This record gives sequence, structure tokens and C-alpha cells, in this order.
Amino acid sequence: MRSPRRCSRNGCPRQAVATLTYVYNESTAVVGPLAAFAEPHTYDLCEPHARSLTAPRGWDVVRHEGEFEPPPPTTDDLVALAEAVREAARPAPRPPEDDQDKQSHSTGRRGHLRVIPPSL
Ligand SMILES: [Zn+2]
Repeated sequence: MRSPRRCSRNGCPRQAVATLTYVYNESTAVVGPLAAFAEPHTYDLCEPHARSLTAPRGWDVVRHEGEFEPPPPTTDDLVALAEAVREAARPAPRPPEDDQDKQSHSTGRRGHLRVIPPSL
């Protein structure tokens, strides 16, 4: 269902945090923050592979020197987050007052409502 981007190195299971782009006409390998979209001549790399990348002979490496941020949550993550927030905001099915009601039925309280006994 969910498909987090993984490092493109063979057998590397880590999550990709950087994108390597080969700029052929400048013989430069650019290691930058994870690109939003996969493009031709780009390779997603995990942080260790991004940091340890060495350029082919005759190539330069331009490396992003800051922190590599993990990619933003996928749509699935956002939906899950929204549902979690909604769940938390929803009132509990049994408010704590219910337990009190069991001990003191004389008050006639039910949740937020107070039952007024008929005055005779
Ligand atoms: Zn890797």
C-alpha cells in the first residue's frame, strides 16, 4: 500500500533522503535533498550512501552540506494523521461522569444533561 522511497543502491533497505543527479554535460554528480519527483538520471540515496558517494573519474561531486531531511509524509501518512487527530478530538464514548452516575443515581445526571425530577 505505502511505498516509501528507498535507497537505489543494490540491497540497501534504508529510506532515501537524498537524490543523486548526474549532470552529464558538466560531468558533475549532484547530491541534493530528496527530489519531489523521480527524473531520468536521478538516483535516490540513503544518508550514508549520499555522504559516502564518490564521483566517477573525471567527475566532480557537488554535495548538499546541510542535514538531509526525511521526505515529507506521503498522502497515506497524512490521511492516517488526520484520522488520528479526528479520533483524538472525538468525545469519548463514555465520559467519566458516567461512572459517577452509577455511584450517585440520585442526582439524575446523564452525561451533560440533568434530569429535573417533576415537582409535585
Ligand atoms: Zn543506501
